Amino acid sequence: MMKALILQAPGCLEFCSVPVPVPGQGEILIRVQAATTCGTDLKAFLRGHPQIPMPGVFGHEYSGTVVAVGNGAPFAVGDEIMGVHSAPCQQCRWCLQDQENLCDSIMATKVLGTYAEFLLIPERIARTNVFPKPNRLSFELAALLEPLACVAQGLERATPKAQMDVLVIGPGAIGLMFVAALKHIGVRDVTLAGRNPARLSVGEQFGARPTSLDDAAGEYDLVIECTGNVDVWERSIDYVRRGGTLVLFGGCKAGTEVRFNTHRLHYDDLTLLSPFHFGTRAVRTARNWLMHPDFDLSPLFSGDRNLADGESVFRDLEAGRGIKYVFHP
Ligand SMILES: [Zn+2]
Ligand SMILES: [Zn+2]
Repeated sequence: MMKALILQAPGCLEFCSVPVPVPGQGEILIRVQAATTCGTDLKAFLRGHPQIPMPGVFGHEYSGTVVAVGNGAPFAVGDEIMGVHSAPCQQCRWCLQDQENLCDSIMATKVLGTYAEFLLIPERIARTNVFPKPNRLSFELAALLEPLACVAQGLERATPKAQMDVLVIGPGAIGLMFVAALKHIGVRDVTLAGRNPARLSVGEQFGARPTSLDDAAGEYDLVIECTGNVDVWERSIDYVRRGGTLVLFGGCKAGTEVRFNTHRLHYDDLTLLSPFHFGTRAVRTARNWLMHPDFDLSPLFSGDRNLADGESVFRDLEAGRGIKYVFHP
């Protein structure tokens, strides 16, 4: 048996004993070394999530050490690995047209349950989207591969250039990772809008100019919305210059509708993008960023927590205390 956090119902997390999974053909079992909290997990904790069945295991950001393998698995016992929680089939209509993020079966076999001592990684993911962890990269930073792959996908679509004036709205973990990635690829002017001073100061460490949304008036070449708040979605268009691009990145509640001024969309020739998830190329881009010695996301970590305190960790995140917490199950 192993210890795991089980999401019983919205707002109810239990620390339970569950059976240790056994790897089948091509699968690997890892000892989870680091599992990081994520905005998606917070949403699931607060209101449920279509991809996270309840009651069930929980958590999808991880890194670890291989402890058992099935026949034909691409790793060996003792390997230190990093990976993401899904993999495209590379055969369907979407995969064949370079839209792996929309793969028909991307969520058919996914990794869920990183808030546990052991984690089973399905064959397709082990083969496609799991990698050796370099020695000098910590387990904590390696666990950020998945959220950073989302950011890499967003930037792949947005195609930022060095001379662009970019506004990132929302200094949560994803917004902050956008700032770090934009600076890393050489974008000179990155502004970060938000209210939480502690989070804004992390953005400053990553090279952004902090501002509040009320003060961010201006005409940006590229605006990246990372709050998932419908009012901010609607306002964010006001910050885009004529001919500019708006990336609506933060997912809103199911059933949400937004209103945009059609005059602005048409006569100002705005481009609206709303990228979701990631393909294999974005995962590799994110991995390359993480392995670069000058790319350090550790200011995102708000501390190590115990799995047994899972519920209080998510209550802290709900209250806006901390950015990302790390479990070492
Ligand atoms: Zn995540
Ligand atoms: Zn596919």
